[in-house]
Amino acid sequence: MMRYHDKVLPVLVTTDTVVVGGGTAGVAAAYAAAERNRVLVIEKNTLLTGTQANALVTPMMPSHAKRLSFNRELLHRLDRYVGTPTGPVGDGTARWFNPEAIARVTEMMLQERGVEILYDARVIDAVVADGVITALVVQAFNQTFAVTAQNYVDASGDAWLARLVGIPTVSGDDGKHSALSLRMEVGGVDIPTLKAWCGTQQYVFSDLAGDDRYFEFVSVPEEARTGDVWRVFQAGVAAGELTVDDVRYIQGFTMPGKPGVMAFNNPQLPNRFAPDDPLQMAAAVAFAHGMQDRLVDFLRRRIPGFDHAFLAKRATMLGIRESYRIQGLYVMQDDDYGNRAKFADGIARGDWFVDIHTDVEDKTRPAYRSLYPNHEYYEVPYRALVTREIANYIAAGRHISASFVMQSSIRIQTTAEDMGEAAGLACCEALAQGVALNRLDGAALKKKLASRWAHYQPTD
Ligand SMILES: Cc1cc2nc3c(=O)[nH]c(=O)nc-3n(C[C@H](O)[C@H](O)[C@H](O)COP(=O)(O)OP(=O)(O)OC[C@H]3O[C@@H](n4cnc5c(N)ncnc54)[C@H](O)[C@@H]3O)c2cc1C
Repeated sequence: MMRYHDKVLPVLVTTDTVVVGGGTAGVAAAYAAAERNRVLVIEKNTLLTGTQANALVTPMMPSHAKRLSFNRELLHRLDRYVGTPTGPVGDGTARWFNPEAIARVTEMMLQERGVEILYDARVIDAVVADGVITALVVQAFNQTFAVTAQNYVDASGDAWLARLVGIPTVSGDDGKHSALSLRMEVGGVDIPTLKAWCGTQQYVFSDLAGDDRYFEFVSVPEEARTGDVWRVFQAGVAAGELTVDDVRYIQGFTMPGKPGVMAFNNPQLPNRFAPDDPLQMAAAVAFAHGMQDRLVDFLRRRIPGFDHAFLAKRATMLGIRESYRIQGLYVMQDDDYGNRAKFADGIARGDWFVDIHTDVEDKTRPAYRSLYPNHEYYEVPYRALVTREIANYIAAGRHISASFVMQSSIRIQTTAEDMGEAAGLACCEALAQGVALNRLDGAALKKKLASRWAHYQPTD
């Protein structure tokens, strides 16, 4: 039992490591921490992998960089579980998956390592004494209780635990934010017919054009690769069938194991909906539902291949590209991107471009528009995950300590997974050495990770 204000709460779990948020980074953190620690994951949805399974964000964007072991194990397991590869052999291609499969596969991976998973569970408060988190207050299903641990991984995506315990955070960029999206899946798509039609619209097909299992349909006004496809959507705006907001960004991906279903990286909401205002986020959800209806209706009537299409699924989680970022021992800077920065305590890698989704592009910024060439990468330093204020806290995911520009690159799924794995291993090391997470030797951790970096080979 634990005293909490004027109440007494049962302590449901006492463990080594608690991971707040079983999302993209959180599952990797739990998997790695469970190598040597007892681990509890607290997840507010009933599917793991967060943005991937619940905001329907797929595929993993391409990377030429080597990855830590969680990512490779996950891809192998997905290949086997789905029966269709996550993509062709070779690095630098996206890794394609479907939401149900990635959630189930990670669930099995964690269960096999003995990780306890609390679903439908929300961390609602934290207790701190002398710069150390001593307990979390959790509401799960229909109960409120406490959990305690030695170390706490904040994998909430929104720096939620950081904000509960008084770690300083920043949000957006001078009041501006990256756009929110509420993704959707569209079923009943005739991919060969859609591709044939795209071929008549000067569409620039990706390298994978020959394989219907990996097809990307994209329409962004005046972007060369979309050929004349974007003009068809503009005609929809002119005819009053769509709005300017509806057509700003349209991008659909096929998914292994779900033939005839495309995951759309839209509707993308106008920037006026801010990810740090609950009322605006609630309004955004309803606004996006209307956009989804209009878009599916338009696709069905105007784009060959969608004639028999239907809205198969609305995302149940708002797609948030950035919200809050912690202020850690090191704040990653814009220049770290351009310089391909390396650090003595570099524990994760990124090579995705600066990818800020906005209504109007900011031309004053340096434009980084493509992946680094030749397997180049920048590193994320361990110090960007830990803070001065709280000894047993570590962050992993899109809310680590980084500038707004840098965040738009580090948020990519593979980098988030690497950060999670490093954070999980850090928890093991901290406990074994009897050292606080914010005093752990990041350079030594980097050395421990050295043998885990490799390119994914589907045929391993
Ligand atoms: C619309 C959109 C499109 C994108 N497109 C791509 C793409 O194509 N490819 C790519 O690689 N990346 C893409 N990204 C980026 C990438 O998917 C995300 O940045 C990444 O998945 C975030 O991982 P995370 O672990 O930081 O957060 P999440 O995956 O969001 O995990 C956070 C978890 O914490 C849980 N949580 C939060 N608060 C609490 C609480 N109080 N109690 C319990 N649980 C809590 C959430 O439910 C969630 O499961 C996209 C992002 C968005 C939003």
